[in-house]
Amino acid sequence: MTAATTTGTKRVLLAAPRGYCAGVDRAVVTVEKALDLYGPPVYVRKQIVHNKHVVATLEKRGAVFVDETDEVPEGATVVFSAHGVAPVVHDEAKALSLRTIDATCPLVTKVHREAVRFADDEYDILLIGHEGHEEVIGTSGEAPEHITLVGGPDEVDRVQVRDPDKVVWLSQTTLSVDETMETVRRLRERFPKLQDPPSDDICYATQNRQLAVRQMAAETDLMIVVGSQNSSNSVRLVEVALEQGAKAGHLVDYADEIDDAWFDGVQTVGVTSGASVPEVLVRDVLDHLAERGYRDVHPVVAAEESTMFALPRELRRDIKAREGRDADAVRHDAGTAH
Ligand code: SF4
Repeated sequence: MTAATTTGTKRVLLAAPRGYCAGVDRAVVTVEKALDLYGPPVYVRKQIVHNKHVVATLEKRGAVFVDETDEVPEGATVVFSAHGVAPVVHDEAKALSLRTIDATCPLVTKVHREAVRFADDEYDILLIGHEGHEEVIGTSGEAPEHITLVGGPDEVDRVQVRDPDKVVWLSQTTLSVDETMETVRRLRERFPKLQDPPSDDICYATQNRQLAVRQMAAETDLMIVVGSQNSSNSVRLVEVALEQGAKAGHLVDYADEIDDAWFDGVQTVGVTSGASVPEVLVRDVLDHLAERGYRDVHPVVAAEESTMFALPRELRRDIKAREGRDADAVRHDAGTAH
């Protein structure tokens, strides 16, 4: 018999904040509104956000996910994902006369702007991030001649710069805060004049979700992170939990991926979700846990969040134009009815 079943002290620590961040919410609503406004199909370059459930739900409504811009038929509508795109992608879309809606998270756009500015000032930019991640490809594309990707502390020794007195580091928005600071520490040993970004590149949502996990990890026998395997910030949450003392940690897209063997000897289960995960999936996990005796749920609140972003300008413009036409039609109908 397990410790949990012996003592009857099964409980759940539920992280807050968790789930959707402002950038993901905006990106998902952008595709929904685009479908309402223009009708299906609406093409989306790459996964709008890195979550299986979100992508499948939007596909059912008529979104078509493609890998590259040249898969979109000429003149069609394409949404660029929250992770951002390189300028060359905008050029490709223009060449195909696509109607583009850019759902890049404003906090990713901020990093793009920093890259452009430092490149204009002839800095070598050391971009800390994961090779092949869409966000990193997009940011690197802003100034490929000036940007060197640094994957983590172990890659610091290999970094070459033109002028060690003119070096700045930037980062992907969804990294582990601790590991990034370790990479920066080592970079600074090599380049003492290394400049910091003007403000944090690791975004508030990533930081807050990691903070909540840090606060509960040491008390947690099993941490369940709801999120997809290709979601950088979700993967980081599992890593942070294990680093901070959780005895085990798993990433699941859906509750039915949870293996009953994981509960052996487990009293305290931690639950959180990545920034691209709808709350309904967390509720399913909580129901699943309740069925196994983990009904006692304690919130662990690390921060309050109130950030919201306006929809992309091009979409707001078209929504406003549609509302204007609808209002005119109502006035016209009212006029002809008399
Ligand atoms: Fe924006 Fe951060 Fe959310 Fe990414 S995780 S979409 S950078 S708020």
